Amino acid sequence: TIRAGVVAVQGDVSEHADAIRRAAASHGDEAEVVEIRHSGVVPDCDILLLPGGESTAISRHLHREGIASEIEAHVADGKPVLATCAGLIVASTDPNDDRVDSLGLVDVTVERNAFGRQADSFEAPLDVTGLDEPFPAVFIRAPVIDSVGDVEVLAEWDGRAVAVRDGPVVATSFHPELTDDARIHDLAFFQSEVATTGSDLG
Ligand code: GLN
Repeated sequence: TIRAGVVAVQGDVSEHADAIRRAAASHGDEAEVVEIRHSGVVPDCDILLLPGGESTAISRHLHREGIASEIEAHVADGKPVLATCAGLIVASTDPNDDRVDSLGLVDVTVERNAFGRQADSFEAPLDVTGLDEPFPAVFIRAPVIDSVGDVEVLAEWDGRAVAVRDGPVVATSFHPELTDDARIHDLAFFQSEVATTGSDLG
């Protein structure tokens, strides 16, 4: 059984939990999902998920509760993380906004709320490295990745990176939990080299 932690300050916690369980099940594995609101939980987790929401509030909570440093240690150990939408902003090296105290885990500069200015949200079929069929990606007041450093770009939309991998961290501008398609969770947690060499994840 894999122990999965979902940061539960805001966002689609139960949808992400379902997607993690489905991704695990597709490998004949099981995931036990725990919600993270306080320190002391992350160190027992094999994989972590940083959902969307409001990046200012989420980053503040993570630092105030001492969760931020635990997530940094998790990544330093090479354990997988999936960060989505506001989670991408929180995980970035440069959120381009003083109100976000980011974790510096994904080497990108982002611009908050920059996608979908005309329409607040949209869905697009995305070609993603490692997936055979396009992924139905839902963007909701999504961040744009302005520039990428030393990361692997997994998907682009409209000429912009919208999914990237930086070591054990996969980050997306969109919300992969909002369809029944668990392939992004699978990619982040079960298809990475770091994941398959981890003791509980083989
Ligand atoms: N607009 C949010 C932010 O900038 C992110 C949007 C989302 O997570 N759906 O924090």
